[in-house]
Amino acid sequence: MQRKRRLTLLMLLLSGGCLWAQQPVESDSTATDTTVQVTQQAFTPMFTLSQDEIPAREYYGNDWNTVNTRAAYSFDPNKTYTLPLDSAHFFFPAKGGAVISPYGPRSGRMHTGTDYKQNSGDPIYAAWDGVVRMAKTGYYGYGGIVVIRHENGLETFYAHLSKIMVKVNQKVKAGEQIGKAGRTGKATTDHLHFETRFLYQSFNPATIIDFSGKRLQTDTLMVVGGKFYTAESFRQRATEAALDIPITEAMPSDSDGLEPDPIPEKPKPKVKPEAPKTPAVHVVRQGDTLYGIARRYHTTVAKICKLNGIDEDAILSLGQKIKIPK
Ligand SMILES: [Zn+2]
Repeated sequence: MQRKRRLTLLMLLLSGGCLWAQQPVESDSTATDTTVQVTQQAFTPMFTLSQDEIPAREYYGNDWNTVNTRAAYSFDPNKTYTLPLDSAHFFFPAKGGAVISPYGPRSGRMHTGTDYKQNSGDPIYAAWDGVVRMAKTGYYGYGGIVVIRHENGLETFYAHLSKIMVKVNQKVKAGEQIGKAGRTGKATTDHLHFETRFLYQSFNPATIIDFSGKRLQTDTLMVVGGKFYTAESFRQRATEAALDIPITEAMPSDSDGLEPDPIPEKPKPKVKPEAPKTPAVHVVRQGDTLYGIARRYHTTVAKICKLNGIDEDAILSLGQKIKIPK
């Protein structure tokens, strides 16, 4: 213990001694009940947050996980939640750009956010006021990620960042720059992967945000029967259906392939330049696309589709067996 303390002190001194005097030093589990501290960033300046400063405690209690995107699942499908969106203080999180991949099923799994094209280094901004719950680099497929929890209970995720400019527990304002765009994690081009979640459940950000107009399209989000509506669309739906559609529908599945959370990505086998031995059948794995499979086996999507009797835009499911043309 003594030795560990000395070591910690030494490292703190080495990593910017002038800061540690003002910052609470992480000490072995002596944190008081009322202070939430960060363990994984012990050597960088920390912000502290008392429990009553945790945003949206009415939904999350004291659940403030600074290490993982998801914590205990506490979504109640039998409840109706009405969330006011602070439309006066909404700030679109990026400049320029355009949607390059929407929320929804993609290559047989769920894409839990909206991909918005950016150039490397473009500034990324907090969408609303809030408190930074996570700020991590190298977080599975997300790469550099910032998660902000807002007072109304929403959380926003900003991923693939090349630079993170905020710290856990830091209070941020709408429009404050939180980082820079990049392609860290599982990304093939520089872009912002933007998510909106409520009680850890992702929903389509386009439900509330008009991405081409860069503005909110409603000032109230409703969560009914585990589904997400604008107040307007819910009202319209209720009127049209005269409620013959049951309001309580199946909740979105918890295993909807939520982007890599938190299943560590297997290190990719080094791609050998020579063609892999062609098996008769390919078993669909995470991230597979018809195009990728065709390229891998030096064939074409058309040939694969013909052989397997599927459409070119068919959605692959994990474990699905795809016959490979000889
Ligand atoms: Zn994405």
